[in-house]
Amino acid sequence: MPDKNVYLDYNATTPLRPEVAEAMKLDLDVYANASSMHEAGRRARARVEEARAQVAALVGIHSDPERIIFTSGGSESNNTVFAIMFHLGRKSGRKGIVTTAIEHPCVLNAALWLKEEGFPVTFLGVDEYGMVNMDEFRSAVGQDTLLVSVMAANNEIGTIQDIAAMAEYAHAQGAYFHTDATQAVGKIDVDVLAWKVDYLTMSCHKLYGPKGVGALYLKKGAPLEPLIRGGHQEHGFRAGTYNNIGILGFGIAARLARSELVLYGTRMLQLRSKLRDGIIATIPKVRVNGHPSNVLPNTLNVSFPGAEGEAILLYLDLAGIRVSTGSACASGSLDPSHVLMATGVGPELAHGSIRFSLGRDTTEADIDYVLDVLPKAIARLRSMSTIEA
Ligand SMILES: *Cc1c(COP(=O)(O)O)cnc(C)c1O
Repeated sequence: MPDKNVYLDYNATTPLRPEVAEAMKLDLDVYANASSMHEAGRRARARVEEARAQVAALVGIHSDPERIIFTSGGSESNNTVFAIMFHLGRKSGRKGIVTTAIEHPCVLNAALWLKEEGFPVTFLGVDEYGMVNMDEFRSAVGQDTLLVSVMAANNEIGTIQDIAAMAEYAHAQGAYFHTDATQAVGKIDVDVLAWKVDYLTMSCHKLYGPKGVGALYLKKGAPLEPLIRGGHQEHGFRAGTYNNIGILGFGIAARLARSELVLYGTRMLQLRSKLRDGIIATIPKVRVNGHPSNVLPNTLNVSFPGAEGEAILLYLDLAGIRVSTGSACASGSLDPSHVLMATGVGPELAHGSIRFSLGRDTTEADIDYVLDVLPKAIARLRSMSTIEA
């Protein structure tokens, strides 16, 4: 068997696009500090500002790049929002935080931090498809709610929430609305003005750019407190010398993602359908997780009762297929996925689940190969298992 490398873990991270890598390489000699006033510094700064406009365009505000602040990634952007709320809540006394049980660990743990600090925090449940229950949402969000934070699209099961409806309701109650759009940006149309959010989180390495760069969108007038204190960068709200090569890469990745959004979505959906239909046709008793239609075009999460997720992952890995059992951030822990548990699948089924996340380099041949290997893997693991299929 030839050395296979079928990477289907794009929701964990993506490879650098060659165009992005090339642009970053060309700029490696732009070493001046982007805050320096000399010509070289101004040149570096111009690159940062060009990237800011490209990132702004990707979320629908091409004429308003100053609403974008660069950070070190999705985790920092999310934590910044919770830090802002910490200060606001202490000043105003309005402290209610409403989020969901299926957020990324960086939101869950930031919310738990505020809970420890005495903020009342609600973790909303979701239905079997991973959608926030709107009745539960409306009864949780009220006059004492300071922040509502709901992810735009889930990293494990791909379910896409109705952000516009939730933001509208939150605003009517006088609450701020934040969305972690890390998995949505570059995969589906993201428009901060149509969604009417106050804060939106992005990360560059999920859209074929470098790791360690992200952004936070802030609506005009939305409160801001620095998470990183120091110099004047980003108006003093996010200090630290600009990661200008990384930011340049983010800009190029954002520009390419925007221009290819429709094509990418169509291609991903086609490959995802092929994989899903193939799995259903060849493997008995599977359960496809996530929403049937409000779902990221590249994400397919499937439970295989009677087989253990980690064992499936290792079997596939030996065959050169790279998948994940849930989120990369939660792997290594033996707890079943908090996302799948929230959708009510139960610990046994949650333990037997695999996330396939497809991407730009995925081919039909890759899917055919998975559909050749996977049924054998499941049959073998099920025959060895004591768990009932
Ligand atoms: C990857 C991810 C993050 C974290 O982003 P980093 O840039 O890796 O810190 C946050 N939220 C979601 C939904 C993610 O998928």
